[in-house]
Amino acid sequence: MHNDPSLNDPSAPHDPSASDGVRVSDGLRVSGDLSADLAEAARILSTATDVTLLAHVNPDADALGSALALGLVLHRRGAVVRVSFGAPAEVPETLRDLDVAGLLVPASAVPAAPPVLVALDTGSVGRLGPLADRVSTAGVVVVLDHHVSNPGFGHVNVVDDRAEATALVVLRLLDVLGVELDEPVARCVYAGLVTDTRSFRHASATTHEVAARLLAAGVDAEAVARPLMDSHPFGYLGMLAKVLGRARLERDAAGGLGFVHAVVTLEDAAGLRPEEVESVVDLVRTTAEAEVAAVLKELRPSSWSVSLRAVSAVDVREVAQLLGGGGHRLAAGFTASGEADEVLASLRAALETVTAPSER
Ligand code: AMP
Ligand code: MN
Ligand code: MN
Repeated sequence: MHNDPSLNDPSAPHDPSASDGVRVSDGLRVSGDLSADLAEAARILSTATDVTLLAHVNPDADALGSALALGLVLHRRGAVVRVSFGAPAEVPETLRDLDVAGLLVPASAVPAAPPVLVALDTGSVGRLGPLADRVSTAGVVVVLDHHVSNPGFGHVNVVDDRAEATALVVLRLLDVLGVELDEPVARCVYAGLVTDTRSFRHASATTHEVAARLLAAGVDAEAVARPLMDSHPFGYLGMLAKVLGRARLERDAAGGLGFVHAVVTLEDAAGLRPEEVESVVDLVRTTAEAEVAAVLKELRPSSWSVSLRAVSAVDVREVAQLLGGGGHRLAAGFTASGEADEVLASLRAALETVTAPSER
């Protein structure tokens, strides 16, 4: 795990009480009591006058939707609010419309020492990428997340690994803050929820009730979901033809459960958005003969971001963590350098380790 012990050490060098009039209660750094942690996060945010909200690198709808929902509420209450992420430089096109108040700023506009920092959907400090250093320079760090592997790198950590999306954690916080939901806020929450639950297929009965509440607040489900999950430029089809044509199935891999993989090179992705590249795994993972699917996405020559998916039996978070990454049981990822074949070889080995009979 990427736990930096100094971050949870009450004697760590920075003094949260010195900034922005915000004080962090003693002993609340990693309480593990969700209601108490939520109350503490609400207390800090309701008095903060300057709040920086950060999503993880290569942000998805859960990360940015969560940040923009909370950001919009705090902005309306009069705080100076900025929402950002470490990389890439561009905001994903499909997420821009969520930012109705113009809260998104480039990473370069994030203060060197933000008084109050909120990290959303970010399972470890490293997932903030080039903005990771702000965790140690910020006055107060609030973590809102749903990754089971989150080490609790904030002063206040609201981490609910039973929540299907960070957007649900944010909604609970908005309820504690007494916010009345309206369409722009509900839409941000819905965007995170619909994507992380794969259109509510991985959603509890209670979460369906939350969805009903969001619809009642005015969300147009199809109008939100289609651009996020179901719409690509025509060039996508040509990219898929090439990439899927090279996909390989290894029936004996992953402890005999089957492993399918595909590679998206920079050349394959030229002229397309990250959204097209990110969605390839959703097709590869439909392979019935494979429990585990992987897509290697080329970031730079010899540098890869890898998406892992499992159907039900293999914990791909364990696999990703063996390779320095993280995620959830059925959806995880890691970054790696080298040739694609080398990355696949280490992935195969990690899969065998996790699926070895003694481990079951
Ligand atoms: P993705 O395949 O990029 O959609 O990522 C699936 C999940 O894996 C994300 O929700 C993250 O929780 C996690 N994840 C992806 N990449 C990494 C990484 N490099 N390090 C840690 N966790 C990751
Ligand atoms: Mn995410
Ligand atoms: Mn998420």
